[in-house]
Amino acid sequence: KVPIPINETVLSYAPGSTERKLLKEAIEAARSFEVDIPMYIGAKEVRTNNKKALRPPHDHQHILGYYHQGDKSHIHAAIQAALDAKRDWEKLAWQERASIFLKAADLIAGPYRNKLNAATMLGQSKNAYQAEIDSACELIDFLRFNVEYMSEIYAQQPPISPRGVWNKVEHRPLEGFVFALTPFNFTAIAGNLPSSVALMGNVVVWKPADTQIYAANVIMQIFKEAGLPDGVINLIYVDGPEAGDIIFKHPDFAGIHFTGSTAVFQNIWKTIGENIHRYKTYPRIVGETGGKDFILVHPSANIEIANTAIIRGAFEYQGQKCSAASRVYIPASLWPALKDAMIRDISSFKMGGVEDFSNFINAVIDEKSFDKLTGYIDAAKNDPDVSILIGGNYDKSKGYFIEPTVLVASKPNYITLCDELFGPVLTIFVYEDDQFEETLKLVDETSIYALTGAVIAQDRYAIAQATESLKNAAGNFYINDKCTGAVVGQQPFGGARGSGTNDKAGSMINLLRWVSPRTIKEVF
Ligand code: GLU
Repeated sequence: KVPIPINETVLSYAPGSTERKLLKEAIEAARSFEVDIPMYIGAKEVRTNNKKALRPPHDHQHILGYYHQGDKSHIHAAIQAALDAKRDWEKLAWQERASIFLKAADLIAGPYRNKLNAATMLGQSKNAYQAEIDSACELIDFLRFNVEYMSEIYAQQPPISPRGVWNKVEHRPLEGFVFALTPFNFTAIAGNLPSSVALMGNVVVWKPADTQIYAANVIMQIFKEAGLPDGVINLIYVDGPEAGDIIFKHPDFAGIHFTGSTAVFQNIWKTIGENIHRYKTYPRIVGETGGKDFILVHPSANIEIANTAIIRGAFEYQGQKCSAASRVYIPASLWPALKDAMIRDISSFKMGGVEDFSNFINAVIDEKSFDKLTGYIDAAKNDPDVSILIGGNYDKSKGYFIEPTVLVASKPNYITLCDELFGPVLTIFVYEDDQFEETLKLVDETSIYALTGAVIAQDRYAIAQATESLKNAAGNFYINDKCTGAVVGQQPFGGARGSGTNDKAGSMINLLRWVSPRTIKEVF
């Protein structure tokens, strides 16, 4: 067994600090250089004549570089390269596999920290503080903690063996290749989904979201520099449905590690079901999907604790975390004071590009997301069932900027209290103080998703009651804190209901999905 790691320390990038200066230099270097990003298939860096530009969402006229878009032939080639690499990779002792990913963690903690943070900042419009907790700390933690969890799996006590018998359990890798599909919103997830699978001895075809390719390329360079053998992880940029059509029909398809939308995941599950007769083995289906995460404020709550939890939960990274607070229930008695505190703080937020570290709010990821969100805002402007407390303006001339917006709905089923928006638009519902129990029921019944949630209260009976009543409404439940920012090794992350298979990212539960144990009995 390897020792339990310590979470990577979060750097503060304080004004005047050397760390801020170095990160700014890395951003400047990235902005002044047009990168050419190949696919990585087996030993090859693959370039095509279909080049696509990558642009910062907060500055969409600037070109960061180009990536080489692949076609069907590259999907086939990536699968073949993975299968070719499989035999040697799975024979390697787990300690050897571990050292590659531990070295990758050290490379990120050291020489690559600024480069990867700068890539996340520019490519995904994430400010320095949000990039640091994602592409530096969380990814480093995933890599280090997964090695520790892996070592616990391999160190498990063997089954009992009576006299004359020797029983063993061997944790084999899956028979085939695994498809990793990663989302734009976390570089840590982009690094974790393929690497956790590979760590357990599997080979991977990895397709990142188009809006994440800029950071994915840096991650791949780090894995290679850390000694990852060719073909173990193959990184391709291809059309999603086209990839699905080939991968989900392949006899060696052994599993999918997914983070993304509920609709896409449900479609994948259905497609896998339709093709189930083709596979050698039942594929592992592991997915983290949408969220409609809540904060429930009790009349006993401390106003400043509630205010901080709400505005950080709702607006950090423009509300584009699966875990972001998007519906908040506030008792009437606290509403006037809480409203004032929220307006005071939200109106102090600066919005703009990531290059200026004082901007708390940056751009949303792309035009499609911008149009969807502003559609909800426009509808709210004309709806008597809702009012806009603050925000509501937007502008996409330079970047996809939407002001942090707070809606107050008079009906508990107002559309923005139900739909997943994935942006800086929060909806509040004010309930009568004597309706706490009814509100608990309402929150549970409207939790079609069940990823994260929080209760803010000082009353211990109310805390206990909410924790019990909302047992199935969130896979990550917070008391007197925001509902975002799970830390690897501290709060294993994932939700049930519409939010996914709840195989807790950064935990032994997740790693166990990537092995297929064999029991061996020998009689003397
Ligand atoms: N783990 C992240 C958090 O706790 C959210 C991950 C996601 O958005 O998928 O905030």
